[in-house]
Amino acid sequence: MEHQNQLEANLRRLKLPGMLFSLPARIREAQDSNLDYGEFFSLLVQDELCQRENNNFKKRLKEARFIQEKTFEGFDFKFNDHAIPAKLVRELSTCRFMDMRQNVVIGGPPGIGKTHIAKSVGHEACRRGNSVIFKKAAQLLEELKNEKLMLKDTLFRKCMKTDLLVIDDFGFKKMDNEETESLYRIVDERLGNRAIFLTSNRPPEDWLSIFPDPVVGGAMLDRLVSGSIKIIVEAKDGKSYRKEGKTS
Ligand code: ADP
Ligand code: MG
Repeated sequence: MEHQNQLEANLRRLKLPGMLFSLPARIREAQDSNLDYGEFFSLLVQDELCQRENNNFKKRLKEARFIQEKTFEGFDFKFNDHAIPAKLVRELSTCRFMDMRQNVVIGGPPGIGKTHIAKSVGHEACRRGNSVIFKKAAQLLEELKNEKLMLKDTLFRKCMKTDLLVIDDFGFKKMDNEETESLYRIVDERLGNRAIFLTSNRPPEDWLSIFPDPVVGGAMLDRLVSGSIKIIVEAKDGKSYRKEGKTS
């Protein structure tokens, strides 16, 4: 028992909480199942790795700031299958579009699950070890403006570097020159390097009118939408999950 106490103290000093936590159970298991030393040690190391991966995953989820998390476990793929093909949503859930450095655009009326899909994809991306930022477009633009006023660029840099940038509810209101410039720099930096996932209540062809200058607007649209994976749902085709009284 004395060397177990010593071992526990050392695991604490070495900052190996996963091993520390599972040590008593693994010792019992080794005795009960006659594990050899190699197996026993390998299991303990595995426990440490699992705990670290789990902690990192939780940290990435927290940093993504989903506020209310959504996952594909709670997504009814059949509900809007005619307008938002389940096959395509399942493909998005693999996050392969990120490896292909492709943007994703989901446009359509309210309540059809655009934000749910965007958050769920973000969740999957975190699960796969990626950093994610999730923001409503209006909030993102405001926060970028505010930090610029304070001569900071923390969020701006994060938006450039994060593995996946999710911008929810894009194209709601007109953008001024400053907002357009910040967003353009982010979009341009990410183009061909890191994916952006956009949702909007309006189809991309309507976005042009939100930019102050049609030339910059055109360049922005081109960078955001060309070569992207698009799911554009017409108002008549998408059923609102909310309206059908399915949400609690
Ligand atoms: P949108 O962003 O298109 O306006 P949301 O994703 O916010 O719609 O969906 C509205 C509500 O309905 C949310 O609570 C969401 O979780 C739920 N919801 C939408 N579609 C589905 C679906 N197919 N399966 C489960 N829940 C859904
Ligand atoms: Mg939404």
